Amino acid sequence: MLQVKNISFKYLKKPVLQDIDFVLNAGEHLSIIGESGSGKSTLLKLLYGELDANQGSIFWKDNEILGPKHNLVVGYDFMKYVSQEFDLMPYTTVAENIGKHLSNFYPEEKQARIKELLEVVELTPFTDTKVKLLSGGQKQRVALARALANAPEIILLDEPFSHIDNYKKQSLRRRLFHFLKENNIACIVASHDKEDVLPYSDKMIVLNEHKIVANNSPKHLYKYPESPLIASFFGEFNVIDGKIIYAHQIEVVGNSNLKATVKTSYFKGPFYLIEADLNGQTILLEHKDYLDKNTEIYLIIK
Ligand code: ADP
Ligand code: MG
Repeated sequence: MLQVKNISFKYLKKPVLQDIDFVLNAGEHLSIIGESGSGKSTLLKLLYGELDANQGSIFWKDNEILGPKHNLVVGYDFMKYVSQEFDLMPYTTVAENIGKHLSNFYPEEKQARIKELLEVVELTPFTDTKVKLLSGGQKQRVALARALANAPEIILLDEPFSHIDNYKKQSLRRRLFHFLKENNIACIVASHDKEDVLPYSDKMIVLNEHKIVANNSPKHLYKYPESPLIASFFGEFNVIDGKIIYAHQIEVVGNSNLKATVKTSYFKGPFYLIEADLNGQTILLEHKDYLDKNTEIYLIIK
């Protein structure tokens, strides 16, 4: 179990994190979300022991994670970290990079492991390609595979799909998170994409103004967003009479006591996002058809 107790951290005099407290069990998946600059990467670096906390403690099982002031060599065998700047060996092949930390004592096992990981990150055709010839997204996938090579007990991923295009992203997410669950590897992902979180995370932490402002399952936070910040992570929403209402919760009906006037329709693929005026307030709703400007519509809130 990962136990993070009362961590606070400043860069020089600038406070970044305050009173960070949470636990994560073996094999569980946790997402850390928050606006850019909210301290997601800093928190991962503290968890990995790359920075010294000003206060608090971090334990994985019985091992205390200590920063560079107390620990000469950063990093532990049971924990791997894939940062936003993945440092690979550019002049060697994809397979050699992935196998870098694997023992040469069992060459067959080593080759089988590399093959398995190449499949997880969908890089089999690039096995013998030199890393410097790869795109940013391909390099990110090599870094992921290398971090998994020795099966850590916990892996920290900082925006792991940020360089990967949409063609590959969906299937890579499924394969990677499935692989982690199958192998009972705990995982902490810093993200600002709900697609990384909703289908895969057991827990979700929201950082704002240096603190954890929510810590619950993604399902719970989606259903009961306590603040506009949390709702905005999941999609378009309105605040009507003090209540958070997602755009998809407003339906156009034949008649009701909520009358609105259409301002703009945006094509979104499976639906149109309609911007409308409701008693002087601009609201957003989803509708299957395009609606002309100035159309009068009646609404219900589901
Ligand atoms: P996030 O990953 O959520 O975007 P970061 O953890 O990278 O946020 O940054 C949190 C805050 O700390 C930001 O205000 C950022 O500017 C600041 N920061 C990050 N790295 C450093 C650093 N090495 N020195 C000083 N300030 C930093
Ligand atoms: Mg970051």
